[in-house]
Amino acid sequence: MKQLKEFLDFAVTPYHTVEALKTTLEKAGFKDAKDFSGLELGKSYFATRAGTSIFAFTLPAKISSETVFHIAVAHSDFPGLRLAPNSDSFDVTGHTLHPEVYGSPILSTWFDRDLGIAGNIVTSDLKQHIFRDDCLCRIPNLAIHLTRTANPQQQINKQEELNALADFEECLEEHLSKLIPNETCDKHSFIASTQNKILSYDARLFDKAPTDISANGTLISSGRLDNLLSAEAAVRALVNSKDSNSINIVCVFDHEEIGSKSREGAGGNLLQANIAKIWNALGQSEASLYKVFEKSFTLSMDAAHAVHPGHLNAHDKGNQPRLGFGSVLKINANKRYATDVYSEAYFKKIAHDIALQTFVSRNDIACGSTVGPTLSAALGIPTLDIGAPILSMHSIRETAHVEDFFNLQKCAEAVFKAEEPFPF
Ligand SMILES: [Zn+2]
Repeated sequence: MKQLKEFLDFAVTPYHTVEALKTTLEKAGFKDAKDFSGLELGKSYFATRAGTSIFAFTLPAKISSETVFHIAVAHSDFPGLRLAPNSDSFDVTGHTLHPEVYGSPILSTWFDRDLGIAGNIVTSDLKQHIFRDDCLCRIPNLAIHLTRTANPQQQINKQEELNALADFEECLEEHLSKLIPNETCDKHSFIASTQNKILSYDARLFDKAPTDISANGTLISSGRLDNLLSAEAAVRALVNSKDSNSINIVCVFDHEEIGSKSREGAGGNLLQANIAKIWNALGQSEASLYKVFEKSFTLSMDAAHAVHPGHLNAHDKGNQPRLGFGSVLKINANKRYATDVYSEAYFKKIAHDIALQTFVSRNDIACGSTVGPTLSAALGIPTLDIGAPILSMHSIRETAHVEDFFNLQKCAEAVFKAEEPFPF
């Protein structure tokens, strides 16, 4: 429980998500795959891309005609507010910072929160500095006395109303420059180098409130549960399945919340390119890869909607996943999820002792999606969409159940340890 809380509290941006997952993997003996040329059977590796996606894998002791890939995927990003270039404004209210909306957060939940700034800075020595600054920023609500529409759902103007008051007087870039560790001195000349200049930065607002796990170990209240729960469950499952006969892979992509079309997103070549590198390093032909894909399996892990106590009708009557009742298989007739009759059957067979629920969207509510259909279409690997049920998806604070996290980890382990080849 302590490890989960530490992870959720640390991972305030996708850079931090990847840093934390990398640390877990390194502690478990995974090595940097570098250019993938020196891979050894029986060993475990990881590779990152753009600092916000991570690809980790374990190799079996031997490769044969029976070898397949067992893959679990998740995403490292979450909806939020990224500070725009030239975001500073100084007026009668003081210093404010203007954000750009990333993905689709429930904007009302960002008001009256204690926010900090975190992200990544690249300096003139071309080094990156992942930072977290607990300075205080606030997007204040307008007092109820000054507006008549505060309580019936208020329309929020994304351009005008999300400016955050900042508790520092200097402009953002100057503030960020103070966060860069001052480089020491040139070893040869012993002349102290001047502070490196900022070339670019990616700075985001984050909620400073720590994760709360209820005393009796049931409810988890935290930001970013979509999709940090899946990322952590997938990596733990991979670590616990090292002696499996399949090539097991976890890939945590960035940019799922904005459509995945980027070099570190699931719409790019990240998964396919890294799998090809592994296959080549093991001396296998590329032509055989596509045959292996057909017998392989992907578990696409992403948060699912738990039924809401005040809105039972927001769910299809026959499919109302509940907190604490297990992972949710996501099904959609229009392929917003990758699950099909074959992947569902195979998964239920290998995970026969794990509690599962199902989700199908109402016909009159547009269904969300995941990286599952994109990856399954690109690689031809049978895929199942699954996730832990959560409440308040895309709120600054979401709610889940501890047992569902462990259940999700078991689901990923069932895939990594599966001996039965995909039969369809
Ligand atoms: Zn998600």
